[in-house]
Amino acid sequence: MPDRPRIVVLGGGFGGVGAIKKLGDADADVLLVDQHDYHTFQPLLYQVATDLLEPPTVGHPLRDLFHDQANVKVKQATVTGIDLDERRVSFVEMKPVSYDYLVLGLGATVNFFGVAGAPKYAFPMYTLPDAVRLKEHVLERWTAADRDPDLIDDGALNVVIVGAGATGVESAGALAELYRQNLNKDYPDVPQDKARIVVVEAGDAVLPMFKKGLQTYAAKALEKRTVEIMLGEVVESIEPTRVRLKSGTVLNAHTLIWGAGLQANPLVSGLGLELQHGNRIAVGPDLTVPGHPEVYGVGDIAWITDTKTKQVLPQLGSVALQSGEHVGATIARRVAGKSTKPFAYKDKGTMAAIGRHAAVVQMLGGKTMKGRKAQFAWRSVHLALLPTNEDRAKAVVDWVGSELTHQRVGRITVDVDE
Ligand SMILES: Cc1cc2nc3c(=O)[nH]c(=O)nc-3n(C[C@H](O)[C@H](O)[C@H](O)COP(=O)(O)OP(=O)(O)OC[C@H]3O[C@@H](n4cnc5c(N)ncnc54)[C@H](O)[C@@H]3O)c2cc1C
Repeated sequence: MPDRPRIVVLGGGFGGVGAIKKLGDADADVLLVDQHDYHTFQPLLYQVATDLLEPPTVGHPLRDLFHDQANVKVKQATVTGIDLDERRVSFVEMKPVSYDYLVLGLGATVNFFGVAGAPKYAFPMYTLPDAVRLKEHVLERWTAADRDPDLIDDGALNVVIVGAGATGVESAGALAELYRQNLNKDYPDVPQDKARIVVVEAGDAVLPMFKKGLQTYAAKALEKRTVEIMLGEVVESIEPTRVRLKSGTVLNAHTLIWGAGLQANPLVSGLGLELQHGNRIAVGPDLTVPGHPEVYGVGDIAWITDTKTKQVLPQLGSVALQSGEHVGATIARRVAGKSTKPFAYKDKGTMAAIGRHAAVVQMLGGKTMKGRKAQFAWRSVHLALLPTNEDRAKAVVDWVGSELTHQRVGRITVDVDE
């Protein structure tokens, strides 16, 4: 069918997958390209890093998601450039591809804000390899300290988490539960009270995007889990075993988790477009890129202004999924010669899970929840975002198992090089 339009979707995250799911009936050829052969469920990466979930729950094979969509092909390749005027995309591993419609769903990446040593020594949390690397590093440090107690005073078990946004708070809470409920029993010779988990935040509160009451609740919930919170402190440099703060304080820590900032995929800087805060592309109400009605931006790469509230939507899974679905449906309508509508976001709330029975939820309208009720809402929203029922079942089994027994399934290290 050489005359069918070709729709190229770059990125198989929430945005890209959401778009393709709505293109099943389109009389068009759809090509999805991602550098990985799996869809990454970023919101649960910290649960892989802290042994609560196993990697396959958080990474689903992309090809498997589209078996029932005959018009979809999936290629694993790394995008190197996008020529919007020539309507062509280039890759490392395969020949360039041209398109009639393009969906940009390449997401965001870590922003180290130029902090010395961060690219080399910090552990970011954006990809599945990031999460597995962190999990294995933490287990390796406990095992090393178990063999050589001198390492404990040197900070082998201490973890500094930079940033008290949702990523930092969720990682700190989960790590504290792993330390105090599991690793303390796994390593009875290690004095676990000497293992510190410290959150360093430049601002004056944890969860700065939440209301005051939820901030206070989250800080108390973290402290109850033995997490130390340092507010108004900025990380100056990171070495393998030390973290230096601008105030002059030096923290002994062999692990630093970076949860402090993100920026849109660096490929956007080659598009010749005006970019907004965080290098995001300001898309129109229909999610098209300015000057290119055949190109759409979805998810974290896009600066989407809500048509109702006029607020810029946050970089969240539900925003990415809904914007992707809207673009898929819009392109399907355009291919069929039908009219289209502007994007309207249905708020699912901004949320953070601090630990067992502790979470916070805030809706765009201002309504809030905390505690068990919020944890239930958090789980419902995240289960809905998982791509298949099989993934949902796996997550529920692991969550319920840990709820009943405090067990964490992933506390092993597999060395593929041995
Ligand atoms: C640690 C963490 C916790 C989070 N927690 C929550 C939460 O609790 N709730 C919530 O709603 N949201 C959460 N988010 C945000 C949410 O995960 C993102 O908003 C969402 O994943 C964005 O979807 P996306 O499709 O735009 O991009 P992504 O999901 O990032 O997908 C982008 C895709 O593009 C691919 N890609 C990138 N560069 C290239 C390239 N050069 N070539 C080929 N492919 C490429 C990537 O492999 C990836 O598959 C969290 C994010 C992180 C990092």
